[in-house]
Amino acid sequence: MQNKGNLIVISGFSGVGKGTVVKRLVSDYGYSLSVSATTRQPREGEVDGRDYYFKSVAEFQNLIDYNGFIEWAQYVENYYGTPRAYVEAELSEGRDVILEIEVQGAMNIKRQYPDAILIFLTAPDADCLKNRLAGRGTEDDEVINKRMKRALEESENMSEYEYIVINDDLDTCIRTVHGIIEAKRCERENNMEFISQIKSELRQL
Ligand code: 5GP
Repeated sequence: MQNKGNLIVISGFSGVGKGTVVKRLVSDYGYSLSVSATTRQPREGEVDGRDYYFKSVAEFQNLIDYNGFIEWAQYVENYYGTPRAYVEAELSEGRDVILEIEVQGAMNIKRQYPDAILIFLTAPDADCLKNRLAGRGTEDDEVINKRMKRALEESENMSEYEYIVINDDLDTCIRTVHGIIEAKRCERENNMEFISQIKSELRQL
């Protein structure tokens, strides 16, 4: 029987570079990435269906009503949700799927999928975080302040995550996250079938 894939949740403060880390995990190691739906406006350069499925509030509500999301949450006045069909199909094909989502969604996933791997990405310190957010240049002061306030709230939930990874050097961060997922694959609990198989092979030799 084919093993089910792992569900990997990556959260982190706004501006911490989650998007870059996740894209590299996909390109360097071949993870599947779930594309979320959102009601927020596209940023410059974002493409519908690649970065997000951009939806109206009514369309989003409709997806909620039809059980189209495995989780959804409100974040700074917009809605974000993880479409169910893609994630379920990838997992049943044995592929590891990354969800890049905020903390309420992550907690929701953990309740439904207790084996999900929850990783929180952070900057080395708060100043660094604010500078990175301002440096992105895509948000005005009001949005930056809202996101910093939200970061404070999110820090309350950091301790719910199994892994905290500092994104200081990008390559190190990516390798560390991949290493965590690899280690999970090697856990005894995930290899009970393998253990009994090799035992029986050895007996037959
Ligand atoms: P942004 O607007 O910067 O792209 O995303 C804002 C926040 O929403 C980020 O923390 C991002 O991880 C989160 N987010 C993106 N997609 C989803 C989703 O499908 N569900 C949840 N719960 N959060 C999401």
